[in-house]
Amino acid sequence: MPHASNIVQCTGPDAPHAFDLIAQQPRNGALDAPCPVCKGHGQWNAEIDLVSFRAKRVNCDRCHGEGWVETGSDPVVIDDIEMGPDGHARWFTRPLADDDPAMPEEPAPHVGPAGPIG
Ligand SMILES: [Zn+2]
Repeated sequence: MPHASNIVQCTGPDAPHAFDLIAQQPRNGALDAPCPVCKGHGQWNAEIDLVSFRAKRVNCDRCHGEGWVETGSDPVVIDDIEMGPDGHARWFTRPLADDDPAMPEEPAPHVGPAGPIG
């Protein structure tokens, strides 16, 4: 007997169920304001089953999953991965460019080939 399900696709952070069961992120002390894209959640549901509440989530590109953004001129760095000279991936700290106010409203969900990092 199949389980009941009611799967809803969320087109982005403005979709009705985009933040179901996703807590807002605690403030990172270095950052200034809740992210305007994900409303401080850092991620949202790309798809959610309103019966079982199983969900597929996407990370927010605007705040890199932090849920908070820098609004001043402080430099912002994130941990990222690059390919080292020996052919192995390694962590490094990457400075971000200043926030661009002309940034589009809907960032494209980005999931790397190995899935979300972090
Ligand atoms: Zn965000």
